[in-house]
Amino acid sequence: MNDEQLLRYSRHILLNELGIEGQERLRSAHALVIGAGGLGSPATLYLASAGIGTLTLVDGDRVDLTNLQRQILHTTARIGTPKAASGQQTLSALNPDVRIKAIEARVEGPGLDALVEQASIVLDCSDNFATRHAVNRACVAHRRPLVSGAAIRFDGQVATFDLRGAQSPCYACLFPPGDGEDELCSVMGVFAPVTGIIGTVQAAEALKLAAGIDTGLAGRLLILDALAMKWHDVRVPRDPQCPVCAGC
Ligand SMILES: [Zn+2]
Repeated sequence: MNDEQLLRYSRHILLNELGIEGQERLRSAHALVIGAGGLGSPATLYLASAGIGTLTLVDGDRVDLTNLQRQILHTTARIGTPKAASGQQTLSALNPDVRIKAIEARVEGPGLDALVEQASIVLDCSDNFATRHAVNRACVAHRRPLVSGAAIRFDGQVATFDLRGAQSPCYACLFPPGDGEDELCSVMGVFAPVTGIIGTVQAAEALKLAAGIDTGLAGRLLILDALAMKWHDVRVPRDPQCPVCAGC
């Protein structure tokens, strides 16, 4: 690290759990973030400001006026532009050290598989079950740690699946494919800071994983009721019959 980087990351370097070594690990990490919306905005802002080395940001949508209430990567002037490019612009201005790759497409199949394989950590900041399950399948196949978040109304949830370990549960152990229906915030509404809180927890988890610090959340689902402002958590056991990870 040069003098400027030592200053930029000085408040991290002061932490015993991180230090220069941990900060260097962040610099060599590659985070794949699926979705540049309400969750992806705070998640990528913290990943970039904290000095993650490489960040791939995937989103096939364009910035819409209805996004701006919570999707803090984007600005009024960028309405109509691709979200991935808008996010890249914001994040590069925040920290030019970070290599940012913007993918303006909804990736699936082999394309998604290749992206997951290239990454060291995956953050699922998407808003639908089909994408969540596709991302999970790729993370199980390539044994990449997955930090999954969701927010709707005043409710949020976040879970870490450290799929590097053979005994880890996966997203499908918790939510079997075909079990749930999408609850879209376009219909149900979402309280803006809930996406901020959950996306920020996802960034904290991803940064700890990247720095080699125990995540603490692996194997648990953390649930936020932002009306009562209460958290609770449930253990996520591995499902031996899981259609995705059983036998992997
Ligand atoms: Zn599973």
